[in-house]
Amino acid sequence: NSRGFDLRDPMELAQVEQARAPWADHRWQGGPLLAADRDDGSRDSVEQVNPARPNDRVGTVRFASGDDIAAALDAAGPWQDAPERRAEVLRRAADLYEDHYGELFALIGREAGKSMFDAVAELREAVDFLRYYATFATADAPRGVFTCISPWNFPLAIFTGQIAAALAAGNGVLAKPAETTSLIAWRATQLLHEAGVPRHALQLLPGEGRVVGTALSSDPRVAGVCFTGSLPTAQAINRAMAANLSPDAPLIAETGGLNAMIVDSTALPEQAVRDILASAFQSAGQRCSALRVLYVQEDVEDRILTMLHGAMDELRMGDPWHLETDVGPVISEAAKQGIEDHIARARSEGRILHRLKTPGRGHYVAPVTIRVGGVEEIEKEIFGPVLHVARFDASELDRVLGAVNASGYGLTFGLHTRIDDRVQHVDSRLNVGNLYVNRNQIGAIVGSQPFGGEGLSGTGPKAGGPHYVPRFRAVPITRRPA
Ligand code: NAP
Repeated sequence: NSRGFDLRDPMELAQVEQARAPWADHRWQGGPLLAADRDDGSRDSVEQVNPARPNDRVGTVRFASGDDIAAALDAAGPWQDAPERRAEVLRRAADLYEDHYGELFALIGREAGKSMFDAVAELREAVDFLRYYATFATADAPRGVFTCISPWNFPLAIFTGQIAAALAAGNGVLAKPAETTSLIAWRATQLLHEAGVPRHALQLLPGEGRVVGTALSSDPRVAGVCFTGSLPTAQAINRAMAANLSPDAPLIAETGGLNAMIVDSTALPEQAVRDILASAFQSAGQRCSALRVLYVQEDVEDRILTMLHGAMDELRMGDPWHLETDVGPVISEAAKQGIEDHIARARSEGRILHRLKTPGRGHYVAPVTIRVGGVEEIEKEIFGPVLHVARFDASELDRVLGAVNASGYGLTFGLHTRIDDRVQHVDSRLNVGNLYVNRNQIGAIVGSQPFGGEGLSGTGPKAGGPHYVPRFRAVPITRRPA
């Protein structure tokens, strides 16, 4: 795995800040990157702004036009170089990403509103995906051309991981990044091209999901779609594919979750509180793995909540560009409004337990805890720093596990306990992709902690694991003997 940077080391911190500084006011100009350059005056141009400072203009992105999409589909094809060459190019791309860390950290901070700490983790994960999936480049037949559609919350890592897997298997890729983080995707694609990925094998088509994303997941020339994002979008893509693509075209989808954590009366309170805080509020709660519903055993609830709310009061909200910031903004004004509506409903019902104060400008949502009876009261994933809190008594453990399973989602689950048998019990009953015991429930290390959900949270295979790249290869048809 990539070494990354240790920001607690003053020498490394100074090095990182120095590398990022020249990009503090830079304005990037991005757009489609196609097999052949085309001049198209009909492209819409969109201004990208910093979610922490709406007057910080990060740059401009031109969206792919209908003609760009048609040209990209015409030119797209598999990457026919030998597997050794594909692996070498992906590894070179990883090196290039690392060489450009100053610019990438600035872009991730300013376009996605992520902290330096998150940006370091994001670059490491992207680099790890490139190097790890490179080891799976084999001579097996690719499927053809994959559409890769990615979210804004891991604008470099997930964008890169999807593409690297499809390319390692020898496919061509049509990449549609999230609108709000198009410039990060544009810069990454340039680096992938510079490393040697042929332009026909990787084309970037920025634009609106319902326009570009729909076009690229409903063209019969596409052999499969790799998607990470929300459940409703995955379902829309599934319908578009079913109507237009070959029946054996795979949809590799990773979606959201209603992730829960149990803290029982044997848990170490300090450790549990630290892990709750990170799981619920790091990255302003904008991680698919983030903790949404905390179940605390009733005999320790007062103590845990007193400590948790005290620790919340110490969180510093603000501009993620500054290192001391713990909680940055959410991605957009629309996202903020949706989350605030949910909080306002809880407030009108008298269910707010604790809330911080919101800093003035930018798309900030102050971390909050909300009382609920259980996961069944939450209708959908609230993608922000909102933690729902429920209580249970020891006899109700199976009821809690049943409710979590009944939500239909199954991404992450956290368990804080010092009873070994309880770990086995929970593990055997829960339908979740990733179970975290006595630690926070966010983050997964490529190659050693494959990540992906069950049920409504994803189709599998798990990203960063050994079964991922093979899904991008053609499956030989075996006929039964007559
Ligand atoms: P989203 O709204 O579903 O968007 C994801 C991507 O799909 C974006 O590129 C979006 O484009 C595109 N899109 C939207 N409508 C489309 C359509 N009809 N056809 C094709 N593409 C379409 O999700 P998001 O808000 O970006 O990301 C947050 C969600 O991702 C959360 O639910 C989170 O849990 C999930 N997530 C899951 C994982 C995981 O590994 N399980 C990891 C990260 C995030 P636009 O940007 O233009 O709308």
